[in-house]
Order: sequence, then C-alpha cells, then structure tokens
Amino acid sequence: MPFSSLGLIAPLTQAVAERNYLAATPVQTAVIPAILRGEDVWASAQTGSGKTAAFALPILQRLAANPRERGAVGALVLAPTRELAAQITASFRAYGCHLPAPAPKIVTVFGGVSLNPQMMALRGGADVVVATPGRLLDLLARNALGLGAISTVVLDEADRLLDLGFSDELGRILRLLPARRQTLLFSATFPPEVTALAQNVLRSPLRFEGETAPASQPVILQRAIEVDPPRRTQLLRHLIESNGWTRVLVFVATKYATEHIAEKLRKAGLDAWAFHGELSQGGRTAALARFKEAKVGVLVVTDLASRGIDIVRLPVVVNFDLPRSAVDYTHRIGRTGRAGETGIAVSFISAASHAHFQLIEKTHNLHLPREQIEGFEPTELAAPEAPVSPAGGGVKGKRKSKKDKLREAAARAAAATASKGERPLRLPPGRRMR
Ligand code: AMP
Repeated sequence: MPFSSLGLIAPLTQAVAERNYLAATPVQTAVIPAILRGEDVWASAQTGSGKTAAFALPILQRLAANPRERGAVGALVLAPTRELAAQITASFRAYGCHLPAPAPKIVTVFGGVSLNPQMMALRGGADVVVATPGRLLDLLARNALGLGAISTVVLDEADRLLDLGFSDELGRILRLLPARRQTLLFSATFPPEVTALAQNVLRSPLRFEGETAPASQPVILQRAIEVDPPRRTQLLRHLIESNGWTRVLVFVATKYATEHIAEKLRKAGLDAWAFHGELSQGGRTAALARFKEAKVGVLVVTDLASRGIDIVRLPVVVNFDLPRSAVDYTHRIGRTGRAGETGIAVSFISAASHAHFQLIEKTHNLHLPREQIEGFEPTELAAPEAPVSPAGGGVKGKRKSKKDKLREAAARAAAATASKGERPLRLPPGRRMR
C-alpha cells in the first residue's frame, strides 16, 4: 500500500520516500489510519516489521495538527532498553524532518547516565518523550516533567518491558497518565502477562496480528563449560564480552556468595548486583532498578531469591555454582528463552562438581558436550567416573543411594567453598575432565 493512501500529510510521505520506503508494510497499512483517527491499537509486530514508523508517523501528524500546550509533553513512548529508546528517537527525528518549523522536540531519557542533562532537555516540555520506565519515574519524582497532558502513549516491545521486570513501573506510570488518552501497544509475543496488560489498558483497540514469533516452547541452548573455580569470574567476564551479552542472571549457592561474587564481578569491571532474600525491600528494588538500566547488567542470585524476582525471563542464565537438584536446574534454565527467541544457559563445571552435574544430566536425559574456553582450560582433576545406577541417580526427587548422597554433599560443599573464593578441595588423582 503506498504511504500516500494512508492519510499521511506530504512532509511525512516525503520523509519516508527519501528513506526509500517504496510501500507501507502490513503493520503500517493496518495501524496508521486507526492511529490518525485517535483509536487504540493492539499490534503483534516484531522488530523489522516497520512498527516504529507505524506509530511515529501518525503521532507526528497528530501533534502537528494539535500542538501541545507550552511546557507540556504531547506523547510518551515507553521502551525496554536504552538502545531501543535511542533508535526510536532517531526515527521520530528522521520522519519529522520536513514538518513545518519549529521542528518537533523529541527527548530521550534512559538510565545509566547522569540525570541533569535529561532534566535540562525536558525544560519547557517536549512533543515526544521516549523513555525507559525506571528513569522516567526518577525524573517524575524530581518534577522534571508532567504527564497530565499526554494525548498518546506507546508501549513498545511490551513483552520485553515485562520480561525485564518493568511491570510495577508501568503500572505507576499508567496511573499518572490522563484517563482520556490514546494507547498503542506493540509486542512480538503475547504471553498471558502481555495479554492481561493489553486488556487492562486498551479501549476497543484495533487489533493487528502480524507474523508472530513462534509461540512454541522457547529454545534454550544449554552449555557446560569446564573451568577451575577460582577462574570463573574472569571466564564470566570473558564470555560476556566475547558474546556481547547484555543481561545475565548468575546463580550461586548461598546468600553470602551472592554478595561476594557480585563484588568480585564489580572488581572485574562488570555492573553486578547481589539479590537475596535478606536484602531490604528498598535494597531489592534498587538492585533490580540498576540492573534493568545498566548497559551490561549482571544479577547474582540464589535459587530461593530468584523465585521472588519479578524478572520473568532473561537472555542468559549462568550456573556459576551448580544447582543442588535437577529440579532447581530446570527452574534456573527456565529463566531464559523468551518465546520465539533462543536463550542460553551456561553451567560452569569444575573437577569437584563434575559428578554432580552428571547426575543432573542423567535425570534430564541430557548429555551436554563439555566445552573448554581457550585461556581458561581447567587444571584441576576430576573424580573418577561416577557409577550411575540404571534405576535413577542421586538427584532430588529420585531415590538416592548412600554413595550418591555422600557424593552430592561433597559436591555441594566444594561448590560452596569455591563461592567463598577459597580453592576447592583437590580430589585424589583420577580421570582428567573431558
Ligand atoms: P522497525 O520494525 O521499526 O524496527 O523497522 C525496521 C527497519 O525497517 C528500519 O530500518 C526501518 O527504517 C525500515 N522500514 C520501516 N518501514 C519501512 C518501509 N515501509 N519500507 C522499507 N523499510 C522500512
């Protein structure tokens, strides 16, 4: 469908023509006329579908037709990450380049950088504010802007907003918006939480169903990497850097280890925070907020604390210490793999925990190839091959032999010791780890 038949004004069609957009994409064709009419929209659209132009073009047109009051904010776009927020801002600016002067004022706000320049930029209001939720709330608390005159709000990548644990923040922001407003919700996937949000905030929306990401079981790539315990921090840092991971959930064995490992990771130059049950509510909220806003964030948790975390899923989970049980292993790796996307679950295996990991694998009928990373090859020796009984091993939920229990206790003790930064017990000479 040509852009000219969607009801867009010439300065906007000219801007898209200059970007060589020959025709509108399906999401643009479906939602642009509805947004121009002032309707709510509920669209399933992925990155690459042209969804940014689908909301930016009609928002710019409506703002041009109804200029905001001085000092007010006209439209608000909420995005899960600073990268996306910056990208959306660039698109608004590009699409609005031919609108009559004054050029629309687009302000981006996200965390991890100083507040002051953003407070300055918000002086006098803005036509469009593109924000990550945590930083927007910080700025609201400092009266840097008001949301009372907003006519349109966009929840972009709503599934990622919820995956990153922004549900509370979204609720608080939505309560500050005028009841009479236009709400546009875009999401690649529709897990129940996103559907509930859509049903809650949208009024008789136009629905667009684009090509959805496969809603089937997420694919989780499981990796087992052999490493000596004292080198795990450096290895984690290496993996984050070489793979470009931005959000990592790291599991350790004890509450003490969350603090200790987070500190070690910080000393290694990473933005890492401990998260455990004994943190005060304020401490938990602060740790989560900083984690969500960081450029590269590492959250170090125990199994127990992770159950209370409002972060639904993350792209990477690392078993820095192995879980005690096969059930916990499933729970941990289930924290990664958003619907339609591949998650990565990495387990660090040491000589001392090698046998324990075999038992977890056996329960899940898995056999992961053991990897070694160049420069981090283990030097510790593994215990002799664990004789695994055909009737099920020594992992929680199955009957354990006395030998299994002893082996499990030894592995746990070694893992806990290693988390305290001490060298693990050296086992008697046996088979080298594969
Ligand atoms: P988005 O899905 O908004 O992230 O957009 C993905 C890419 O598609 C961006 O690089 C846009 O510049 C580009 N794009 C958006 N709409 C169109 C269109 N109608 N024709 C060609 N490219 C487009």
